[in-house]
Amino acid sequence: MIIIMLGAPGSGKGTVAKLLSKTLNLVHISTGDMFREEVQNHTELGMEAQKYMEKGELVPDEITIKMIQGRIQNSEGVVFDGFPRNKAQALALNEMLEVQNKKIDLALQLNIPDEDIIYRTVKRRTCSNKECGAIYNLEYRKPKVDGICDICGSPLTKRADDNEETIKNRLNVYHSRAEEILKFFEEENLLYTVNLRAKDNITEEMVKSWLEDYKTIKK
Ligand code: AMP
Repeated sequence: MIIIMLGAPGSGKGTVAKLLSKTLNLVHISTGDMFREEVQNHTELGMEAQKYMEKGELVPDEITIKMIQGRIQNSEGVVFDGFPRNKAQALALNEMLEVQNKKIDLALQLNIPDEDIIYRTVKRRTCSNKECGAIYNLEYRKPKVDGICDICGSPLTKRADDNEETIKNRLNVYHSRAEEILKFFEEENLLYTVNLRAKDNITEEMVKSWLEDYKTIKK
């Protein structure tokens, strides 16, 4: 099964992708995480990507698509988190999948008001252990011990681009591309939208119920 997560930065794509990956045994591919890893490792790709990331802009398609190409081979089921982000990337993904006789099954959009997003992302903290990657919020999903992940005990970090100014730009970038990509998946009859608020605690049961509902609609 191939699932695409759609939604603004901070809409909960990462959280839902993790739940989907666990429930359906899918490989979770997050282009944001991949870029952050490249930045952390000071690779050439990372240094190039950082210039765009710190401003909240999209890394050019040719870099992003090339990075993804190596990752999707031999993966039966995948949940894409943060890719594709525009129509060119969506078309490139379709082509890559076609070669492997695969196709997208669902584009799951998380729709959440912008004011909720700013509030949510400024207070977001992420587990620094890549294997875990649990996401917290200092207002409504606090860790039990300050700065420490409840699940694996690793330190929590704040993403460099989770500051108000960059978030506002990331939201602008998102909205400027949202229409074309939503239309693309709507025309492919793959779009399923969930309306959420920042404080909603997304559970495995909720995610399963969305999948059931989507299956019923598709019949
Ligand atoms: P994210 O963690 O998905 O919010 O991504 C963080 C940053 O990585 C974005 O603001 C972009 O600069 C870059 N990025 C992630 N995914 C993509 C993509 N599909 N296309 C271009 N840039 C991306």
